[in-house]
Amino acid sequence: MEIINNRIKGAKYVQALKHGNKFRTGYPDAIVIHFTAGPNGAATVNYFKGKYAKASAHVVVDTDGSITQMVPFDTVAWHAGRSSFKGRNGYNFFSIGIEIVNEGWLKKSGNVYRGHYGATYKAEEIVEGEHRNPKYHYLKYWHEYTEAQILAVKELCIALIETYDVKLIVGHEEITIGKSDPGPAFPLDKLRDELLGSGRDENGPDTEIGKDMKVTASKLNFRTSPSLYAAKAGPPLVRGHKVKVVGTEGSWSKIKVEVEGWIASKYISE
Ligand SMILES: [Zn+2]
Repeated sequence: MEIINNRIKGAKYVQALKHGNKFRTGYPDAIVIHFTAGPNGAATVNYFKGKYAKASAHVVVDTDGSITQMVPFDTVAWHAGRSSFKGRNGYNFFSIGIEIVNEGWLKKSGNVYRGHYGATYKAEEIVEGEHRNPKYHYLKYWHEYTEAQILAVKELCIALIETYDVKLIVGHEEITIGKSDPGPAFPLDKLRDELLGSGRDENGPDTEIGKDMKVTASKLNFRTSPSLYAAKAGPPLVRGHKVKVVGTEGSWSKIKVEVEGWIASKYISE
């Protein structure tokens, strides 16, 4: 895939109604992945181009992997809304928005799974997965992304990384409270690990199960699951605190806090 003059060479282009100005110099430096929460690529394209559009995205990736571009990559699109991540707010001004045609979560009724607009799906089209945000753990059934979509998104991300200074690939679910896209059916951690060499924009050291490490932040929250939304597992750790790695997942390490030391016996009781 090739990007020339901020457009994918050879891809269909349909202008979205809503968009912002050109990005400031040095941007975009991020990609935000979304699902459409609907079954139909043409409907999404029609909505973004139509007069009632309230949002837009740079591209829509249909179920067959075909891409319709709707906003040039040097121009702000309206896909991220209120958003905050890594100390920055308003990700529309930093990022390319990729909408993937996918229902998101589905409701099971009998032997079928029902989408938001009544479309039904069979068990083969469903992924049972746990959302990274514990708030959505009650949603069990997610619409499977097609291989063609995953491949198209990967190729597009590679082209964007080559053309712009992209350092970050995030899910909408990670930057906007109340969003569940792209959800557990999309291999987001795998994609950014492969393309950016780490879980996120920060390269942490390699962690391995069994390794003893030290906290380098002055105060570090540790959580009950590998998510910024998860509940805290205890009071924050301080710099120098020794921890043992007992598990890893993407850019997160599960740790066991090892503490041993002497205290005056008069300050403890049974
Ligand atoms: Zn979204």
